[in-house]
Amino acid sequence: MKRLKYAVGIVGVCAAFLFSACNSDESKKDNEPQQQMKLQPIVIQGALPVESERMAAKLDHVTVETIGGWKFWKGTYKGYPMIISKTRMGMSNSAAATAIAIQKYQPIAIINQGTSGGHDPELNVFDIVLGKYTTNIGAFRTPQQPIGGGSDALTWHEAFDVLPEDESDPEPIAIRKFESDPELLIAAYAAKANYSKGQVVEGTIGSADVWNNELDRIKFFHRTYGTSVEEMEAASVAQIAHQFKVPFLGIRILSNNITNNGAYDPATGEACQDYVLDVAEQYMKAKSESK
Ligand code: SAH
Repeated sequence: MKRLKYAVGIVGVCAAFLFSACNSDESKKDNEPQQQMKLQPIVIQGALPVESERMAAKLDHVTVETIGGWKFWKGTYKGYPMIISKTRMGMSNSAAATAIAIQKYQPIAIINQGTSGGHDPELNVFDIVLGKYTTNIGAFRTPQQPIGGGSDALTWHEAFDVLPEDESDPEPIAIRKFESDPELLIAAYAAKANYSKGQVVEGTIGSADVWNNELDRIKFFHRTYGTSVEEMEAASVAQIAHQFKVPFLGIRILSNNITNNGAYDPATGEACQDYVLDVAEQYMKAKSESK
């Protein structure tokens, strides 16, 4: 009995010591990198080398993994675990890279970023669009035309929803918009103050395996889909992230805008990467503080 009391006493003293040690500021500081490492990594995607390699070069403790034709740089940025993924261009490549990343790394969130073409004449090269919504602008049911009837894309008014709720409908006609994750959007606003090369605005990103250069067609998308910009990946990534319930945000810088003669500027790809790394840091910081 006496022995038991003694043991309980020792345990109590140790517990009190540990408790006070854990609460001191000193030990909090020491624990910080470990706390950050406990988070699952955030994946940041870019299609081209000019849209991904600058971020990859800024990671610490990097290892490179290539799966199929898709390259992933795994490391930390400011102590937070991050994976930079080079998806290659287009909807299929970006979908595959997203599914692989989710299965292999179980990311806390995914940001798809890079260059884009303006659909809104109010936006200029170097402005950044936060994709509150992302939508596929390459899926349609066309009107019927006989042989010799020609083809006019301006008459394609029926958007085809490739991920309908009701799977029994073989021809689901709807403009499907994927909404961004609110916490990622908050992080993007937190990083906005540090971006000085253009405006940062909320908008809709339209994606397809198409580079549109017809101004009437661009106007049609801007009016009916509400697109701010077009590019070739974000909606595909949003669709896959949605299927896996992984938080997603598309962030696109205007590298060109033919609606207001905004000439293509390749330096935009790097500017976007710097901004997005900042967004990812803000997001991970908020996540580690809420843990
Ligand atoms: N013109 C660039 C190459 C861009 S290729 C060059 O000369 O280097 C297409 C890639 O850029 C795609 O991954 C797409 O997401 C993005 N993109 C930028 N502007 C676009 C636009 N106006 N339409 C479609 N995709 C665009």
